[in-house]
Amino acid sequence: MDLLEYQGKQFFAQYGIPVSPGEAVTTVEDAVAAAERIGYPVVVKAQVHVGGRGKAGGVKLAANVDEVREHAGNIIGLDIKGHVVKTIWIEFASDIAEEYYASFTLDRSAKKHLGMLSAQGGVEIETVAEEDPDAIAKIWIDPVDGLTEAAAREWVLAAKLNPDATDGAVDILLKLYTAYTEGDADLCEINPLILKPTGEVHALDAKVTLDGNAQYRHEGWEEYEATQVRDDREQAAYDKGLQYVGLEGSVGVIANGAGLAMSTVDIVNQVGGKPANFLDIGGGANAEVMAGALEVINNDPDVKSIFINIFGGITKGDEVANGIVTALGRVKIDAPIVIRIDGTNAEEGRAILAEHESDMLQSKPTMLEAARTAVELAK
Ligand code: GDP
Ligand code: MN
Repeated sequence: MDLLEYQGKQFFAQYGIPVSPGEAVTTVEDAVAAAERIGYPVVVKAQVHVGGRGKAGGVKLAANVDEVREHAGNIIGLDIKGHVVKTIWIEFASDIAEEYYASFTLDRSAKKHLGMLSAQGGVEIETVAEEDPDAIAKIWIDPVDGLTEAAAREWVLAAKLNPDATDGAVDILLKLYTAYTEGDADLCEINPLILKPTGEVHALDAKVTLDGNAQYRHEGWEEYEATQVRDDREQAAYDKGLQYVGLEGSVGVIANGAGLAMSTVDIVNQVGGKPANFLDIGGGANAEVMAGALEVINNDPDVKSIFINIFGGITKGDEVANGIVTALGRVKIDAPIVIRIDGTNAEEGRAILAEHESDMLQSKPTMLEAARTAVELAK
């Protein structure tokens, strides 16, 4: 779940990270009123789920009310890489001596958290990584041990920030690590992290991705949820509580369990097809869930065939088969369906499906055969 900048700053502020005071608004008049309350100069900032707003004209300094009016008017409605600006954030402008970069994310191959810090901030970190990789100081943190102050200090020294920034940076990085771990974030990035001429270190931007699966243990995440941008397919799946990721191909995929869904996507690729999506219907594959899943897939015009791959463990093959049959009675499906059922009560499941087989519904005994058939039908 991606946060807008101002939400990310509110999230940071909960952990004591210094950010500028500001207000989120949606109209020019409210922008003016906010600026009058905040005091000048202010920065007018587009709130969209995409970076590089500055370059796109979505971040402007305003020294007085006329400039706020002008910039707010230009930025509201601005299209930044396909994201149209609805909300703008007005914050008190900071004086900048230097711009740095700081982030925490998970390094899956190292099975550790990765912290990145650079004295070259304000530009995209990918650019720094390409042009001057030594300018990024990295630290790998064992999630059990955590980040100690001594390790953070060593890390900051390795990044060669201005010595005036050392204490402030150490303090913010420790807080950022706490925000990242206790806050159940997948990514916390500050770019730029600034050193002010007065010596304070301060977060001027915030890019935060939260782990949506942790929502149940955090209050206030509904607000972040409300501003998520989803395409129509993703929204329909979300409304039905399905784990869905839209892809570009033509074979619709439904499987039970994320591991099997990933394997299904892999095998479709392996036999020369392209999955249209990833959809995990989870444990209880009843008629309701199956109908919902089929509806979501069916509404994708790119889907030319549907591959339902079920391995019964606790889920029973006959119940799934009944679910599919009931679902087909409810949803008119445009693409042919290929089903593979294995595991608990697979025989019973296949027997139920056998009574309903047609050009539009075929059952195959193995995953490979089912994948081949589905890919063939999608051509
Ligand atoms: P991004 O382009 O989407 O990453 O947006 P940022 O929030 O990072 O802003 C882009 C750039 O605008 C920053 O790198 C700064 O150089 C500049 N900027 C943002 N806020 C301020 C501010 O309060 N004061 C000054 N002087 N510059 C700012
Ligand atoms: Mn930025």
